[in-house]
Amino acid sequence: MFIKITDRKAVWKYTAIITAIATFAATGVVGALMAIIPGMHWSIWMWGVSIALFIPLLIAPPCAYFILSMLRLLHETIEKVDLQIRLDPLTGILNRSHFLDSVRSQQSSGILMIADADHFKSINDRYGHAAGDEALRILANTLKQSVAHHGLVGRLGGEEFGIFLPGADSAKGEEIAARVCNAVRQVKMLVDGHSIGITLSIGGSVHAATTTIGHSLKIADERLYFAKGSGRDQHFFGTDGEAERNIHRA
Ligand code: GH3
Ligand code: MG
Ligand code: MG
Repeated sequence: MFIKITDRKAVWKYTAIITAIATFAATGVVGALMAIIPGMHWSIWMWGVSIALFIPLLIAPPCAYFILSMLRLLHETIEKVDLQIRLDPLTGILNRSHFLDSVRSQQSSGILMIADADHFKSINDRYGHAAGDEALRILANTLKQSVAHHGLVGRLGGEEFGIFLPGADSAKGEEIAARVCNAVRQVKMLVDGHSIGITLSIGGSVHAATTTIGHSLKIADERLYFAKGSGRDQHFFGTDGEAERNIHRA
């Protein structure tokens, strides 16, 4: 069994436990062995047991503390690396693969959305790539705040974000999508002294737990295409005439 040493308190706790076990074991074994030696005088027995008590008492605490501190450091490093590989380095939200893994692991139906920044290339062209990066950070933060406890937000790539609302129906999905678009429209982005206005287009699909995420993403992407084609700065979750429009697109 591998003990998890997550904080300093655990280091001290296990140092005390290991020291207690080491001293009890040493005194117990030495005391028992010396007791069976014929003619052993009690004063010599006391000496032997005292030495068996003090040696582990001197050695065990520093050794246990050192090893447990190393284990704690290892645990912290693993946690940090784990977090780093899960998060998108630019925006700090879930990266594509971990967003999709998280959706899968929920094993829940819900609403899956793709949110894509409108005309983002022109922001880079006008204000520079660094300003674009800062705009993406603000965008990700706004998305996270708008979705809040309702679901997950991840960066799918470039200026494209994924949102998953477990257990939500289309009505709830559209409500959150409208909230997200509104929040992004209203957010004040002051980047490098420039006030940047930005909007989002969102395509959404109902993701059934039994279908693949790739399928739901494809539908959301097609609907995102409609939202873009219909003037951007809006969400689209499909209509009765969608199939017909799909044919027109093809
Ligand atoms: P549309 O409304 O049709 O989505 O237009 P768009 O300009 O947003 O889309 P397009 O695909 O033409 O361009 C996407 C731009 O996003 C181009 C690319 O340079 C920019 N981009 C992607 N990733 C990053 C990034 O990490 N940082 C910055 N600054 N720009 C990025
Ligand atoms: Mg875009
Ligand atoms: Mg895009």
